[in-house]
Amino acid sequence: MKNNKKENELPENDHRILGQRLDLFSFHEISPGAPFWHPKGMMIFRELEKAARAINDENGYLEISTPILVKKEVFEKSGHWTHYRDNMFWFQNPTDKNETLVVKPMNCPESTYVYNSTTRSYKDLPLRLAEIGRLNRNERSGTLGGMFRVRQITMDDAHIYVRPDQVEDEVERVIDLIEKFYRGFGFEPRYVLATKPESAIGTKEDWDMAEKALSNALKKKNITFTVAKSEGAFYGPKIEVHMKDSQERDWQLGTAQLDLVMLPKQFDVSYTDEGGKKQMPWVIHRAIFGSFERFIGILLEHFNGALPFWLSPVQVAVLTINDTVKEYAVHVAKELKGAGIRVMLDDRNETIGKKIRENEMQKIPYLLVIGGKEAEAKTVAVRERGKGDTGVINLDAFLAHISKQKGAHA
Ligand SMILES: [Zn+2]
Repeated sequence: MKNNKKENELPENDHRILGQRLDLFSFHEISPGAPFWHPKGMMIFRELEKAARAINDENGYLEISTPILVKKEVFEKSGHWTHYRDNMFWFQNPTDKNETLVVKPMNCPESTYVYNSTTRSYKDLPLRLAEIGRLNRNERSGTLGGMFRVRQITMDDAHIYVRPDQVEDEVERVIDLIEKFYRGFGFEPRYVLATKPESAIGTKEDWDMAEKALSNALKKKNITFTVAKSEGAFYGPKIEVHMKDSQERDWQLGTAQLDLVMLPKQFDVSYTDEGGKKQMPWVIHRAIFGSFERFIGILLEHFNGALPFWLSPVQVAVLTINDTVKEYAVHVAKELKGAGIRVMLDDRNETIGKKIRENEMQKIPYLLVIGGKEAEAKTVAVRERGKGDTGVINLDAFLAHISKQKGAHA
């Protein structure tokens, strides 16, 4: 119901209200369910993207990028054309009636074309192909609501091609990434193992082995999990990663979905084993936080807009008391910028009280107030978000203090 509420009925920390107040993004009728990112919002998006890429780079993932428009034949093969057609956007090429193009709703099938572009041997596995792909899904406009249900989705997606005997190890690695990422925000991830449904395809032997690999990986990591019996996908069991936000709402964000047949069989994916025989790998569809849009919406609401330092669009604001200190204030801002800090200089002709209030409303982690004393002594008066006035220190000491936080997450 919440999605249907008018803006003025939304709670204070609703991400749509915060998005507007903090000047992060907007939605417009000309593109229902697709956010227009403003410069400050894009800064959050970019930092998250950077973190996702850093995780991938450190953990042996290779980044790919596949086309947004693909012929419908791809989705006929995957089965989506039959079962999911109304949820996709597609059109006939105006100059070629025989060509129907689909705006991709997922990256999965296309990753197999990269995999299949060359012969793969057992030595190439696990092959971890990551893609931060822009996807479009035909959500009904009545169901759209801010960042939680969008038509345009950006996923932190990866497809890991593995030998069945490598699944357990690989899932353990995925769990490590998830643990590190979520705990970095202070979230406690909760794990659910979804098992073989009625509609399952594939052999019982494969399913048993697959479910065992997933539960073994969780057990080895000493992770407690619940079992959602018969709630797996028809093509394989999965681990779902949930978190509770500050309002006790449960979100399913990450997944490690095992695929025993859909991609491998439909797209004829194979590798040659030690004996030169052709074998079918399994595929792990993996997402750490899922959709960028939804995750940013959740973070905004969870932190009530006061994002962690590394994600804050403006990290430090420098506030002048009057114009006589402007030269020093410019110097301070320049030093901070040089140290890789996102800094904003507020030298408006307003009272310092008003400047502090307004910048605090913007949830900026640090405000540096510059008056005559500070300019003379080459110091800064620090106001920390949530703590208020924390005293006067020299600029170098402040730089040393915040540089510790700069890379706190990724
Ligand atoms: Zn996938």
